[in-house]
Amino acid sequence: MEPNTNNQNNPSSENAPARIPNNPVAGNAPDRLKPQVPREPRPEGAGQQPVRRDQRAPQASRQSIGYQGGGRPGGQPGQQANRGEQSQRPNANAANAGSGHTAARPNDASAPQGGGAKPQGGQRSGGGGGGRGGRRRGGTQVPNHTDLVPSLDAMPVNKSTFNGSSGRQQIKVKGSGQPQVSDRGPANLATKEPKLRVIPLGGLGEVGKNMMAIEYGNDIITVDMGFAFPNPAKQPGVDYMIPDVSYLVANKHKVRAHVLTHAHEDHMGGIPFILPQLPAPIYTARFSAGMVEKKLVEYHLETQPQLRIMDPDKHEKVQVGVFTLEFVRVTHSIPDACAVVITTPVGKIINTGDWRFDPTPVDGKPADLTRFKELGDEGVLLLMSDSTSCEYLGHSKSEAVIEPTFRDLFGRAEGRIILASFSSQINRIQLVVNSTATAGRKIAFVGRSMLANVELAIKLGYLKVPAGLVVRVQDVVNLPDSQVVVMCTGSQGEENSALTRMGSGDHQNIKIKPGDSVLFSSSIIPGNDRSITNSIDALMREGARVYHNVFRELDGIGILHVGGHGYQDEIKEMLDLVRPKYFVPIHGEFHMMVRNAEIALGKGMAKENIFVMDNGDVLEITPSRAQKGARVPSGIVMIDGAGIGDVEGVVLRDRIAMGADGVFMIIATVSRKTGKLVSSPDIISRGFIYMKEHEELINKARAEVRKSFEKRAITGNPSREDWAKFKLRLRDDIGDLLYSKTKRSPMVLPVINEV
Ligand SMILES: [Zn+2]
Ligand SMILES: [Zn+2]
Repeated sequence: MEPNTNNQNNPSSENAPARIPNNPVAGNAPDRLKPQVPREPRPEGAGQQPVRRDQRAPQASRQSIGYQGGGRPGGQPGQQANRGEQSQRPNANAANAGSGHTAARPNDASAPQGGGAKPQGGQRSGGGGGGRGGRRRGGTQVPNHTDLVPSLDAMPVNKSTFNGSSGRQQIKVKGSGQPQVSDRGPANLATKEPKLRVIPLGGLGEVGKNMMAIEYGNDIITVDMGFAFPNPAKQPGVDYMIPDVSYLVANKHKVRAHVLTHAHEDHMGGIPFILPQLPAPIYTARFSAGMVEKKLVEYHLETQPQLRIMDPDKHEKVQVGVFTLEFVRVTHSIPDACAVVITTPVGKIINTGDWRFDPTPVDGKPADLTRFKELGDEGVLLLMSDSTSCEYLGHSKSEAVIEPTFRDLFGRAEGRIILASFSSQINRIQLVVNSTATAGRKIAFVGRSMLANVELAIKLGYLKVPAGLVVRVQDVVNLPDSQVVVMCTGSQGEENSALTRMGSGDHQNIKIKPGDSVLFSSSIIPGNDRSITNSIDALMREGARVYHNVFRELDGIGILHVGGHGYQDEIKEMLDLVRPKYFVPIHGEFHMMVRNAEIALGKGMAKENIFVMDNGDVLEITPSRAQKGARVPSGIVMIDGAGIGDVEGVVLRDRIAMGADGVFMIIATVSRKTGKLVSSPDIISRGFIYMKEHEELINKARAEVRKSFEKRAITGNPSREDWAKFKLRLRDDIGDLLYSKTKRSPMVLPVINEV
């Protein structure tokens, strides 16, 4: 999982990152990989359960915000919208811990300039008008909020040196509206033989919504089906974002199976939305299967999936179409995380899922290094490996290092222990349970997802809790404070989480009081900094002693959290074991993938055998070679309420515009015969100005509306088209007036009633 990457405005083609310089010779690379600034390891946290609004029935209509490749099969021609506007990559959002985090306000000044930035709002949102174009500032057109929303045809720029020896990435050439293939290199793999096609649809160039397709001839299997949480500043009102699977829907008849590497939301959260479109059996390990079942019950899904449980410890293999599947155990921050090995007619390929090598895991189930080594001996064609923490030197710390910290604090505290962590981190929960027992305390679990996951983990035998240790939260009051441990959700400061409510005094059973020790056994998922800080402040105001991993040196305590992704040494070890012919970094923002590629280069892999890919890229592999082929559709499909993909860029732009400067509605009643005003226009505004105090401005606007009607040249029975044009002009005139007086750009909505 699963950090959120809010506010990372990916550069457009015009301000693309500088070309990555050629890599140093092999062996030299690792020195360059030192992170400039020491950072906390990437966090875990996908365990949060989504809050369901209602039953989400899949809908027929679906549109995606994303980028399209040219000449790909099975696409949606209507979507190849060629709009001259400034393009921007879909933002790389990640599964974020909930709705509580604050996001930066859209910042006009940072929006990319130039290109063909055009106002967009009104043209497509029907009769009512819509958002205004750019704001006027000092006479120059400043791109509006529109630039904060991904456009429909933005091509990802990838001039990375890791593009293989040929078939270079399609790039959007500067100054041209159309994606072009620049420097195509040798011709396509024009062989008649079927080729293996590896098609990432999510999770590359971003952290979140992981998904990829593996295709050979008439068979496709998918690996993972994740979702990402939206950035409220960029996707207001949107619940989740899933990958665009239109390529797979067009090739539905080929889809034989879905494989899930583990049960984090960025790997399986998309199931309720995607599975009904692509029905096929799901292959996954036991704990993940339990989590999938729980999720499907929660969503009342009509499609009853066939769950096929794979046991990584038995090395069982299953034939699916031309492919053979095998699961290999890795360690991560959730039970039963596995890499998947797919034997294809061309060779073996491995998708690691999220992984690290924890030599002393809490559940006693380390990664299966022996099997990885054997696979290396058998020969591996392609390794696709997690990039999340590849920018950290050395080896990640074992989960076991946390237990002494718990013991120390549980023993030291005289009052209650309240501990927040990720609800799917069952091994962490086990450590808390162990320390609770050792300290002679009792534990109460609080928070919906915490309770649900604990129940499932106990039922499946992944969490071992001594009899009599667990108490109900409502019974905590009957215990002396020195005997209480409360384990809860809310480590990211999420608004409605148990911990936040305890801090604000809104929790039914537990209110924070002096003497409480609150432990955050978690990371700070980027983007959640503010809400976590607010939560810590609130807890301290109530008199609690607050411990967070970030301040552990200040408090003189041990480690309170470790992440679930491998550092450089582990990635090198994996490469040594597997010795793949080709390497594709997955799961990570672009810089992470490039760094991961550099690790492989440093291990002596040939540069032309390493591919840094984007979602929608296709890696085509034959027995003799590999190269990038034509792209397939990819991008974000937004889920809002019951709608799948019915919220698109224009809707978001309107939401952002309304949220920023409000709405200004003009209701004019006109004569059907003459087109003239029959009464004074009504004005309604929301979120713009308090009308009572701005009577003068409202009167000016009303006068301006009258003037516009008088200026109208149309006589007689005006047509629909006349009205549409007139409304656009009215919108601009009134918008200009309001901007000149207030320096704000509310959404102006002219409504004309003919009587
Ligand atoms: Zn992940
Ligand atoms: Zn994960």
